[in-house]
Amino acid sequence: MSAVPVFDYLEQYRALRGEILTAIERVLSSGRLILGAQVEGFEDAFSRFLSGTGESVAVNSGTDALAIALMACGVGPGDEVVTVANTAVPTVSAIRITGAIPVFCDVDLQTALMDLDLLPACLGPRTKAVVPVHLFGNVVDVERLRNLLNHQEIRIIEDCAQAHGARLRGQSVGTLGDASAFSFYPTKNLGAFGDAGLCFSPDQRLAAEMRKIRMYGFEGAYYAEREGINSRMDEVQAAILNVKLPHLADYLSRRRHLARCYDQLLDPRIHRISPTTDAEHAYHLYVVRLQGRDAVRAALQEQGIATGIHYPYPIHLMRGYRFLGYREGALPVTESLSGEILSLPLYPEMGESAVERVCRVLNALLRTRDTA
Ligand SMILES: *Cc1c(COP(=O)(O)O)cnc(C)c1O
Repeated sequence: MSAVPVFDYLEQYRALRGEILTAIERVLSSGRLILGAQVEGFEDAFSRFLSGTGESVAVNSGTDALAIALMACGVGPGDEVVTVANTAVPTVSAIRITGAIPVFCDVDLQTALMDLDLLPACLGPRTKAVVPVHLFGNVVDVERLRNLLNHQEIRIIEDCAQAHGARLRGQSVGTLGDASAFSFYPTKNLGAFGDAGLCFSPDQRLAAEMRKIRMYGFEGAYYAEREGINSRMDEVQAAILNVKLPHLADYLSRRRHLARCYDQLLDPRIHRISPTTDAEHAYHLYVVRLQGRDAVRAALQEQGIATGIHYPYPIHLMRGYRFLGYREGALPVTESLSGEILSLPLYPEMGESAVERVCRVLNALLRTRDTA
């Protein structure tokens, strides 16, 4: 029986190898390695992919993209930013880079996304922004979120690191809030061959601020209009992303197709994380909930089936974030989900037969367990 990895980029590389190597060679011989034609071209192409009016600013990572978007919105020390604790740690790292304090809203058990019914209780006089995380590629209803904020001066900055191509009522995530952040870490729906990220904003003024912050606060040469950092996407990563972006729509339909296969083949008693109503999930991850998750995971591994847990530890209970003052029990749904979630193998090059095998083995494991 062949092994099923949880993710594999090598097959994608083999398919695009010639084009990628040519693109890299072109950059290296161009005489321009930083903020040249590749980065500019990628920014325009990604804005078109989002088909929103607005501007993209290519940066060095998803974490930086989120931090820069927050800074551009004026988030800083003394401010509070509401987000969730079942996300990847970098969501919270980005908030802390600005000096602001993260405030955690519990999540919905069915969608694993911010529970918008609980959001109003998380808002206070210091709330400067909300960071909805489109976790797993599932979509937070940003329209409803905006209505809940009720015209208060609170910014919405979407964490789209796992959701390239997801949509809410036909509109791309990343164009729904005031600004947004994408990651091109190799495992994401669109992956570079190293670190890379991008901020987007429909608001030209915010985009212009993000562009300054990306490079020392410069507008012209050698003159800081404001404080900034160094977080430029480099030309080589941009060239690779320019080769891969035209394939993203295909990768997404493949992910959605494989997710439908899982939907059909998994034992109906297995709880799936539900896609948001009126949304198109981007299926960065296909996640189920299982009692006795760790034993099931080990048994799958024994049969050569790799799985992931995204994520095993809620952030508010991690040692590094103890200073925020949360205790066990503070976010009951977040905490119970972390013990039950399991990400099944899913990547565009995966075959249907591999999905069938995962489902066969998993269904059989649960049948044996339930009759034992
Ligand atoms: C990957 C990820 C990030 C951070 O992106 P990097 O490019 O690794 O810095 C932020 N938020 C979420 C939800 C992520 O999955």
